Amino acid sequence: MSQSKSYDLVVLGAGSGGVRAARIAASLGAKVALIEKRKIGGTCVNVGCVPKKLFSYAANLHFDLIRSAAWGYHIPQFNFDWNYWTNFVAKDINRLNGLYEATIKKSGADYFNGFGIVEDPHTISIQSSSHPAITLQADRLLLATGTRPNIVEVPGSEYWITSDEIFSLPELPKHLFIYGGGYIAVEIATIFAQWGTKVTLATRSTFLKDFDPDIVNRLYKEFDLLNIEYIVNDSVVRLEQKDNYISVHFKSGRSVVCNVSLCAAGRSIDLEDAGIKNLLLKKNTQGWLEVDSQFQTSISDVFAVGDITGYLPLTPVALRQGENVARHLFQKDFVLKPINYENIATAVFTSPPIATVGMTLEQAKKQGFTAHVFQADFLAMKYAPHREHAVKTLIKLIVCTESDRVLGFHMIGIDAPEIIQGMAVALQAGVTKAMLNETVGIHPTSAEEWVTLR
Ligand code: NDP
Repeated sequence: MSQSKSYDLVVLGAGSGGVRAARIAASLGAKVALIEKRKIGGTCVNVGCVPKKLFSYAANLHFDLIRSAAWGYHIPQFNFDWNYWTNFVAKDINRLNGLYEATIKKSGADYFNGFGIVEDPHTISIQSSSHPAITLQADRLLLATGTRPNIVEVPGSEYWITSDEIFSLPELPKHLFIYGGGYIAVEIATIFAQWGTKVTLATRSTFLKDFDPDIVNRLYKEFDLLNIEYIVNDSVVRLEQKDNYISVHFKSGRSVVCNVSLCAAGRSIDLEDAGIKNLLLKKNTQGWLEVDSQFQTSISDVFAVGDITGYLPLTPVALRQGENVARHLFQKDFVLKPINYENIATAVFTSPPIATVGMTLEQAKKQGFTAHVFQADFLAMKYAPHREHAVKTLIKLIVCTESDRVLGFHMIGIDAPEIIQGMAVALQAGVTKAMLNETVGIHPTSAEEWVTLR
């Protein structure tokens, strides 16, 4: 027999945005239910940022070990144990799932692991193999169901895997083919190439299209150093499997033979998978759920945060949106300030990584600014013992000529994400080039270059 319970807020999707919203709303005294059909923590914890960053550390270590003789270490032999490593990562993710669940329970919210299907804006049924069906009544509903990886539909598309599977492959692939030119494609390429996997990376256009072109050119040097074969402006038209190999065929007539073919072609909303196909929600022209400045969808009492809203699909953005919507709904004195999406820093965990905040020169010009560029190009000290196996650091500062205000920071080099986080604070605070000039640096660091650019 089906049970029924009533809540002030039902949150569908326990990823970054959903967990944050549920926790804050419950701590403000609201009666909250949080529903997740897969694992708590969502894409970021289970198949995204967390495993990716751990894999990136492991791959960087492999690269360093290979070059250890240049530092005077004689390590005659070492092996990388893929099974050990993937088991460790799975265990660490389980640990995080446990922490997330404990945090939710501590906040007072009820957590349901099952498939939440929205029957109407105030009625959600939960189906699960581990308990009888439950029906929840909600005064308000928050959709935080995220997105699913796109599959490029070509003959043989059943041979694609996606980023959902890449961190739990049964073995380290010998030859990995990656299709896509965005974050996931370039990150996975550099991680696996450092382990010695032969990587072929292809995009129908160019890589990291919205990033500074000089930074992207430096990324090509990284690809060369890691023996990553890359193909631009060509499209996959067919995949075929023979024995244990997959042949990937292109429009140009070329083909690539690999063991694993990863499709990293963006992500989109799947209303059925999210359990929200019964709601007649308005989407914008790009296919994302339309929300107003208070995160309300086209249906009253139905709110949405995170990747399904099509703002920058990054964990910290979903966290901020989740917190804001919870406070807006349940904290009486809360004044909802619009999020400034302009100055959000972002990083690409290649090796070395890229990080950026603010406008590129091209974006500044498009917005009507007259701007000029300061840049530095140098070899980070860490590479001194093996200069020939190094990608030089490049930093670029975009400054408004008229006001002297900094419009953007762009960097490729060791620790770029750690450095750019600080620069994002400065940008948000309205830093000028003169203020950077007045700042005394920390020596010897790469970060000090930002305050010595002349
Ligand atoms: P991105 O949006 O970064 O890139 C999508 C890529 O897929 C583009 O190169 C695009 O090509 C290509 N593409 C899209 N559709 C097709 C198609 N039909 N055929 C061929 N190519 C296609 O997506 P990702 O999948 O790399 O990542 C998803 C999101 O996850 C990102 O937007 C990012 O915000 C987030 N993410 C963030 C990370 C981080 O913060 N470090 C790490 C990983 C993911 P084109 O440019 O020609 O359209």
